[in-house]
Amino acid sequence: MRAEDILSPTPCGIFCKPGGFHIDPVRPVARAVITHAHADHARAGHGAVLATPQTLDLMALRYGENFAGTTQAAGYGETVDLGGVRISLHPAGHVLGSAQILVEAGGVRIVASGDYKDVSDPTCAPFETVPCDVFITEATFGLPVFRHGNPQDEIVRLLHSVALFPERAHLVGAYALGKAQRVIALIRQAGYDRPIYLHGAMEKLTRYYEQQGQDLGELRLVRGTKKAEMAGAIALCPPSSLKDTWTRNFPDPLAAFASGWMRVRARARQKGVELPLVISDHADWDGLTATIAATGASDIWVTHGAEEALVHWCRLQGLNARPLGVVGYGDEDEGDDAPIAAEAGSAGTTA
Ligand SMILES: [Zn+2]
Ligand SMILES: [Zn+2]
Repeated sequence: MRAEDILSPTPCGIFCKPGGFHIDPVRPVARAVITHAHADHARAGHGAVLATPQTLDLMALRYGENFAGTTQAAGYGETVDLGGVRISLHPAGHVLGSAQILVEAGGVRIVASGDYKDVSDPTCAPFETVPCDVFITEATFGLPVFRHGNPQDEIVRLLHSVALFPERAHLVGAYALGKAQRVIALIRQAGYDRPIYLHGAMEKLTRYYEQQGQDLGELRLVRGTKKAEMAGAIALCPPSSLKDTWTRNFPDPLAAFASGWMRVRARARQKGVELPLVISDHADWDGLTATIAATGASDIWVTHGAEEALVHWCRLQGLNARPLGVVGYGDEDEGDDAPIAAEAGSAGTTA
């Protein structure tokens, strides 16, 4: 059996014909296997959904209990048979519940990794290398200029700024699923024990992380707190709120933004971000290339992001590689607003 007979790209997403399922379909399908709960990968309206228990819970929080006809939970390492195709889920290190999907049929092993990162994150299980013949990789930061560095160093810069400007409120833009909770956990690891404030849009997801055993210290909602109390405080919000009237709740607000894109200083300036924090839930260039090598795969299929550069790198290593050309995935920090190639030059001058 050839890999292409097992998984192939379609307008709805990657399709497994012998197993009768799509992986992270971008339109409603009969049977979906979902890597993680970010909105562009996990959509409502499928007939049946297989995912980790956390991903199913997060989808229910986002879309309501009836987000799919039926659901089936599979824990990490558990094997499920769909039409003679063996499927198992393995930690992707991206956000809580995120999984790579190992598809095995006819002696061929294919891993669809979804979004992933290979660095430690206190809020989710660490990425696991799964040996395979074909590795399907994302390429959100698939250019050599993207090196994320150590997230703890970025938190040190944030806390230094808080100490330096005790009269200002520090607003940290962070995606509501995964990034926000990771930033809070990193702030706690750095020893900051004052209350951290939350935008209302982050409350449900953050409480879910706490229910799953994540200790995030004392959290308070911005809503209902006096403006004067916010002097010297840290508040997390969706990135879009950094520019809206919500910021009027705070004395002399200072805008920070936690994203891998903050390596691109022009983008930080354009967004009015005073304190860019390079913290990403995606692998950087070194992470992508090291992971590809570690899987031992001879065929690499590259999807959403800077596909050409990574395909080129793979071919230089003697691997078969091709862009998969599946559309419909964005980037949780940016939505559809990710003109990567255009900004690569400016990233290079500051890296
Ligand atoms: Zn994601
Ligand atoms: Zn993605």
